[in-house]
Amino acid sequence: MQSPKSPVVKDLVLVGGGHAHVAVLKSLGMNPVAGLRVTLITRDIHTPYSGMLPGYVAGFYEYDECHIDLGPLARFAGARLYHTEVEGVDTENQKVIAKGRPPVSYDVLSINTGSRPNSINVPGVDEYALAAKPIDIFLQKWDQLIERVNQSEGEFRVVVVGGGAGGVELALSTQHRLQQELKQSGDDPSRLTYSLCTSSGSIMYMHNSGVRRKFERILNERGITIRTNSRVAAIDASQVTLETGESYPADAVFWVTTASAPKWPKTSGLAVDNAGFIKVNHNLQSISHSNIFAVGDVASLPDARPKSGVFAVRQGPVLTRNLKAAATGRSLRRYRPQKKFLGLISTGNQYAVASRGSWSYESAWLWRVKDWIDREFMAKFNELPEMDDNPRTELASGIADREAIKELSTLAMRCGGCGAKVGATVLSRVMARLPVDSRDDVLIGREAPDDCAMLAVPEGKVMVQSVDYFRAFIDDSYLFGAIAANHALGDLFAMGAEAQSVLALATVPYGREAIVEETLYEMLAGALSIIKPTGAVLAGGHSSEGAELAFGLTVNGLIDPAKVLRKSGMQPGDALVLTKPIGTGTLFAADMRSKAKGRWIDAALKAMVLSNQQAAEVLRKYGATACTDLTGFGLVGHLIEMTRASKVDAVLYMDRLPILDGAQETVTAGILSSLQPQNLRLRRALKDLEKAALHPAFPLLFDPQTAGGLLASVPEDQAENCIQSLKQFGYTDSKIIGCIEPASDKPEPIRIQSGY
Ligand SMILES: Cc1cc2nc3c(=O)[nH]c(=O)nc-3n(C[C@H](O)[C@H](O)[C@H](O)COP(=O)(O)OP(=O)(O)OC[C@H]3O[C@@H](n4cnc5c(N)ncnc54)[C@H](O)[C@@H]3O)c2cc1C
Repeated sequence: MQSPKSPVVKDLVLVGGGHAHVAVLKSLGMNPVAGLRVTLITRDIHTPYSGMLPGYVAGFYEYDECHIDLGPLARFAGARLYHTEVEGVDTENQKVIAKGRPPVSYDVLSINTGSRPNSINVPGVDEYALAAKPIDIFLQKWDQLIERVNQSEGEFRVVVVGGGAGGVELALSTQHRLQQELKQSGDDPSRLTYSLCTSSGSIMYMHNSGVRRKFERILNERGITIRTNSRVAAIDASQVTLETGESYPADAVFWVTTASAPKWPKTSGLAVDNAGFIKVNHNLQSISHSNIFAVGDVASLPDARPKSGVFAVRQGPVLTRNLKAAATGRSLRRYRPQKKFLGLISTGNQYAVASRGSWSYESAWLWRVKDWIDREFMAKFNELPEMDDNPRTELASGIADREAIKELSTLAMRCGGCGAKVGATVLSRVMARLPVDSRDDVLIGREAPDDCAMLAVPEGKVMVQSVDYFRAFIDDSYLFGAIAANHALGDLFAMGAEAQSVLALATVPYGREAIVEETLYEMLAGALSIIKPTGAVLAGGHSSEGAELAFGLTVNGLIDPAKVLRKSGMQPGDALVLTKPIGTGTLFAADMRSKAKGRWIDAALKAMVLSNQQAAEVLRKYGATACTDLTGFGLVGHLIEMTRASKVDAVLYMDRLPILDGAQETVTAGILSSLQPQNLRLRRALKDLEKAALHPAFPLLFDPQTAGGLLASVPEDQAENCIQSLKQFGYTDSKIIGCIEPASDKPEPIRIQSGY
């Protein structure tokens, strides 16, 4: 979590992690702007670099070599990273509408979401073709196609639709890869046949005649049939049909046609061109909304240029300058697109053709040059400099917005004590925006607030209570609210209680009133997204302003006292079950140092928002004898609590521990949570400590967990069925990780077993 060093004054929201936005993020990391909060909303955490994509498909690059990891880059930039898809912009209220979360407010908005191949009105494309974008879906389908080709027998017919540089490159690179796959498995590569359909009269009509001739020759040499003036009108499982009615058999179809625009810019009321691309002026600024910018494929510039990553890259520095200028009230700079640009187009077999204006050239060393240029480009974003303490350039004096300056000056004189409370107006506005919830046994709650919440305990039940409080470890207040709620509720579910009500304690960083309101709303809305489905209500709480975002929840549960599941019921012979993978401590420690891959953090966050409620029900159904939720003390710490209370010993199967992706890598790199040393003191509880410590996963036994899974003992004869059931309910990483034994006469209650 990167708490801002100065109060938030303005919100810059970047939509899409395209080629220009990565440059904006890098620049903001190098030269941050005080008071400017940056949020990146992106559908993909790993954004592909288009120049290397054909090389990846051909098998020359690893995934990480040709994708920019937006996780560390956003952290470097001090930006909040929201992993979701944007569906629209409410320009009147200056909010971005994003899937699965509250609208995101902006003062300045920049859009760099790219384009998709045009498939409008072509039946069958979505079902049967491999469209070149969105890239993550393309890559999934590509892996499946490799498998399908390997499994197939006889002729396998591939049709590529699109005769631009993208289509030609994709035809050549996929053909190279599939032929290699077949050769490697001793199969006959000649059973693969390729053709390329283009609606125009020649391939690569945007390039000079020399380039066209070269590619016609290369495609011919590679046995790829070119069909010009062939507009595809439909696709089905076994063929492509042209507008003329002719059809060709096809076992697989690549769809790489001209770029099309997303629908949401138009429906949001932004000025767009005839094709739906956002119309911008020479400053890359929307012609209809001066605080909105658009770049890359999604933008339509006054001087039309091809939809190509090269232009998006060149727009990056100008965009950066203009976004900072727009936030600080300075004048904008004009973007001057290059008239000619060097295109290095690969032929899928480590050979390339150069194209610039009317000049063309081809050779194998051009591929090496291209490879070098591309790797240099990627290194700029994937090998980030260490920035201990980012210097913040002062923005406050540069802000043109008088209101903001006035508000900012009052922030310096914030009171403590009760004066630190979030203002009543802000609070009541936030409450009014939150979904209503009620329960019969919550007699006074949020809807009719009083000095206290009033809770009834039904006959035959008792109330169990727990409280948790922590500083934000991520910059996304909505997700943080959800995880904090999940973490707190875990205690109730571990005991087998029904969640009844929650009291929240929210601390929001100082900032402009509108920003405080938004942050508080997001955090509470996130918490409610978890609390509501459990059947509990948010009955009340307290909110204040402070140095950093923090959230605490008191959770109240109801349970029949005879049915409480405690830590003390473990029986010798029981199996030890864990419902979620471990490793959040080390992963978020690595994330703070920008050393964690974006997809690792993304997967960890998904595990953390998974409620323990249903897991608890499953464990109870299969006769769990004891249960706890895994949190700060780590696996060994919580297990010791259980074995001590139950007067038993436990065996841990080290090779069966479910571990979050990346956590083994980060502990091996020595990146550990700051709580780890305290947890590590408990290593004395392990038998044969020296031997145990040799296991690579040893440090993870002491890794503190946030919103971890449930650790339970289950009768051995029920354990396998219990795991199957847990998996069906979405706890896909559930594992039997050990067993319970009678207490030995040794002081150490836990034995570690490898090679299980
Ligand atoms: C096979 C192929 C090869 C190509 N080769 C080259 C080449 O060698 N050189 C070249 O210059 N161009 C090449 N291109 C063209 C190039 O891919 C595009 O022009 C370029 O990617 C456009 O860049 P961009 O920055 O506008 O958007 P993109 O690079 O497409 O980035 C868009 C980003 O926005 C995100 N996003 C999309 N929609 C949303 C949403 N609704 N909400 C949130 N986030 C969203 C995506 O996840 C992605 O991170 C090729 C294209 C293809 C198909």
